[in-house]
Amino acid sequence: MPDQLQPLSAGAELLALDRQHVWHPYGPMPGRQEPLVIASASGVRLRLADPSGQGQGHDELVDGMSSWWSAIHGYNHPVLNEAATAQLGRMSHVMFGGLTHEPAVRLAARLVEITPPGLEHVFLCDSGSVSVEVAVKMCLQYWRSLGRTGKTRLLTWRGGYHGDTWQPMAVCDPEGGMHELWQGHLPRQVFADAPPGGFDTPVDPAYAEHLRSLIAAHADELAAVIVEPVVQGAGGMRFHSPGYLRVLRDLCDEYGVLLILDEIATGFGRTGALFAADHAGITPEVMCLGKSLTGGYLTLAATLCTERVADGISQGEVPVLAHGPTFMGNPLATAVALASIDLLLGQDWPTEVKRIEAGLREGLAGAVQLPGVRDVRVLGAIGVVQLDHDVDMAAATRAAVREGVWLRPFRDLIYTMPPFVTGDDDVARICRAVVAAAQEG
Ligand SMILES: *Cc1c(COP(=O)(O)O)cnc(C)c1O
Repeated sequence: MPDQLQPLSAGAELLALDRQHVWHPYGPMPGRQEPLVIASASGVRLRLADPSGQGQGHDELVDGMSSWWSAIHGYNHPVLNEAATAQLGRMSHVMFGGLTHEPAVRLAARLVEITPPGLEHVFLCDSGSVSVEVAVKMCLQYWRSLGRTGKTRLLTWRGGYHGDTWQPMAVCDPEGGMHELWQGHLPRQVFADAPPGGFDTPVDPAYAEHLRSLIAAHADELAAVIVEPVVQGAGGMRFHSPGYLRVLRDLCDEYGVLLILDEIATGFGRTGALFAADHAGITPEVMCLGKSLTGGYLTLAATLCTERVADGISQGEVPVLAHGPTFMGNPLATAVALASIDLLLGQDWPTEVKRIEAGLREGLAGAVQLPGVRDVRVLGAIGVVQLDHDVDMAAATRAAVREGVWLRPFRDLIYTMPPFVTGDDDVARICRAVVAAAQEG
């Protein structure tokens, strides 16, 4: 086979083709901003493809984003590479209908073992959004099987983000978010106010009462409450007290509503607990996992549910869950996911997350004083600087790259969630970049 790879100096040509043909996340066509061309990545560093000046003198950028929460072990990790390569030599894929295989079975068993007690059954799918679709379908079908056909709506709090396909869009924050355009077309769900901010704050009884009155008023039509536990990610990077999860757990029990926790961003240690539900010590009926499930190597998500939900569905009039993605249980992705979980749990990850948390607190503390900065908050390996205006994306990105760091701000937020393997010097560098982006963005 001739080498089909373009020489690295083809960066300019790649950019031209990219502009002509390639859609990027949340972008117009053609894009208005030039993406950076990345040739490879290793550890916590992204290597730029081209010496064209994109890196403003840097060949590599320290990754402050973990590729959107996913690359917790950094890039090109020997253990994950080995898991992928070994599985590649056996099979990269076989269908999951009528067939099964070791990586998927072992991964499902492992997820049951490490998630909150009571979650027993695992539906493997391709992406976070699809796992939310599956979660919603499970809950609606559960009630339908029990003859409660009126229970078809969802309740969530404002400020959330659950993905970009149809059902997830319907429970994203309806105002100012990326899916505002579709209000009026999406299923109309029930929205509570956003939870009061602050991880270390006591439960506000007035807000708990607000949740109670909404759930009580809609109990007959609610299939489930769905929320992101402890950290609301792409809806605004807000933190709340785990106490509200206990409030929701109690209210769902009292009023006969299922609870879905979307841990796609928070799962696998990011907030300082293995799962954010662990901060509250609760078990939801349904839990969604994704993003860092494969350590950022391949796309894979999982929807876990309790015995009660699985039994309800399987004893109904249509006793099957009619969902089965082509790449369900993909052997390559499940093999890497298993290796990623073993890698995480085989090290003292809580200490690493605490170390990064301390570094972010120290490095970002001064940002509160900057003009235009509204709030600075840190939880686990997540650091956020919120401005009092929308970020000038181009200027903020340029400022971060000048410091040798990759950041991807949005709305009024400059934020970072570095890989857990980021060293102290690199955490400090990321903080300098966040501060520079806040000053110039
Ligand atoms: C990213 C995200 C999703 C969507 O996952 P995709 O893999 O992008 O479809 C859903 N929920 C939360 C909380 C997320 O952070």
